[in-house]
Amino acid sequence: MSTTHASAQDALHKVFGFDSFRGLQEQVISSVVAGRDALAVMPTGSGKSLCYQVPALVRPGTALVISPLIALMQNQVTALQQLGVRAAALNSSLEFRESTRIEEAMRDGKLDLVYVAPERALGEWFRRLLTQTKIALVAVDEAHCVSQWGHDFRPEYLQLATLREQTGDAPFLALTATADAATRKDIVERLALKDAAQFVAGFDRPNIRYTVEAKSTPRVQVLNVVRRHGGAAGIVYCATRNKTEQVAAQLQAENVQALPYHAGLDQGLRARTLDRFLKDDGIVVVATIAFGMGIDKPDVRFVVHADAPKSLEAYYQETGRAGRDGLPSEAVMLYGLQDIVQARALIEQGDAPDNQKRIEKQKLELLVGFCETTRCRRQALLAYFGDDLPEKCGNCDTCLEPVESWDGTEAAQKLLSAVVRTGQRFGAAHVIDVLVGADTENIQKWGHEQLPTFGVGKDIDRQTWRGVVRQLVAGGLLRVETEQYGALKLTEAARPVLKGETSVSLRKDPTKPVRKARSTQE
Ligand code: ADP
Ligand code: ZN
Repeated sequence: MSTTHASAQDALHKVFGFDSFRGLQEQVISSVVAGRDALAVMPTGSGKSLCYQVPALVRPGTALVISPLIALMQNQVTALQQLGVRAAALNSSLEFRESTRIEEAMRDGKLDLVYVAPERALGEWFRRLLTQTKIALVAVDEAHCVSQWGHDFRPEYLQLATLREQTGDAPFLALTATADAATRKDIVERLALKDAAQFVAGFDRPNIRYTVEAKSTPRVQVLNVVRRHGGAAGIVYCATRNKTEQVAAQLQAENVQALPYHAGLDQGLRARTLDRFLKDDGIVVVATIAFGMGIDKPDVRFVVHADAPKSLEAYYQETGRAGRDGLPSEAVMLYGLQDIVQARALIEQGDAPDNQKRIEKQKLELLVGFCETTRCRRQALLAYFGDDLPEKCGNCDTCLEPVESWDGTEAAQKLLSAVVRTGQRFGAAHVIDVLVGADTENIQKWGHEQLPTFGVGKDIDRQTWRGVVRQLVAGGLLRVETEQYGALKLTEAARPVLKGETSVSLRKDPTKPVRKARSTQE
């Protein structure tokens, strides 16, 4: 293909085969095409690459793309070459002859795009090459790396502004998925962007339907999501390596093409799994969070969290891998008492400094709040990122099936007193046995059938009781002692409830009849 396209639209249709621009793409692209510096903050999956790839084809000369993700560069280059774009990546893994060839092509104006790592871009050799090449624009990917406040500071990014000495009046475009106002200011200053246009996209992913389900029959719940997307690709996230293998095996037994993925698996196997996920239809990857970074598959129809994620940021990132093509997609999280307890224990037992632990606990509380909310999930999620959604979304579980709440004061009192009467030494299962008046070995062993609270909660089923325990733990009235086999203990906050001074409103976990899958044993 020969160089410049008449217009951005032209390049979009003819080269990339897309009908229209998305979100802020068009604005960013016209600004860059016009030669103005710009900063674009757009969420993952929103199509940042096109923001420099299209101008690269419209402006004369070679576009320089600076990216720290060497592993991903080659993928991008290959994808572009398949579209007929003249792209190359300069990195340390190249043979001398190959890099000489690329350098020559640059000088001769025979490349539309060159990807290069920052340290390479800053070297004397490369700078000399730049002076001999017509540069169309300079795109700085992952631009938040320039900011010391960011989570991924890279010192070599500080030098990138000096490239202007070799790139003349080529516009700089800084791109990142995350940058708050302070980081944006930092990026503009440190990259010395001149009179930069700033584009900040909303975080909303309207085509993703968010659902959070109380974990009741996880195996069936996961299978139901997979089934309702019959044969589509998806990701199931699990908290542990073991569990990914277990869930993958369960899905395979139901004839789902499920593959486990975690950092403990052999590298070759991981690469093959990733490859199949990208190329075959309908692969469901059951993974730890090791899976996902930089994976660009547009038609992932669902992301299931079989265990709760670590924080709302993680949730947003992980669910954001669904529906990058803009078509209706689903994010389903299963969440139960055990998730909160485990996450808290992990933080407490970790060796992070105390203030770090405090921050992690706050983040966990916010996640729990999101799970227990009766508001629109999308409003709650976006509010966390400081992004306002004025209306309810109509495309999340709480919008589609408004959560009923019930006066749980009496139930809470019964539960709390059962905890006290049994000496704050037992876990949820036993306390619930006491409430519903079950005849178990442990009840007899401890003589708990003698307690005044024995059987006082018969009118409520176990599943609902589990919801009450979970919500009281989430609300900070009960604590789970992980060091003592999950014993429930009262906190200060429980006192006014026991004394009848405060009432407790609880959400009714939807009890949708779970569609029976072929084999439904838990
Ligand atoms: P980001 O870098 O922001 O995470 P990408 O540039 O990788 O996102 O793009 C995500 C996906 O969206 C890719 O599969 C890309 O082909 C697709 N995409 C980008 N722009 C458009 C568009 N205008 N129309 C359709 N698909 C698009
Ligand atoms: Zn909603």
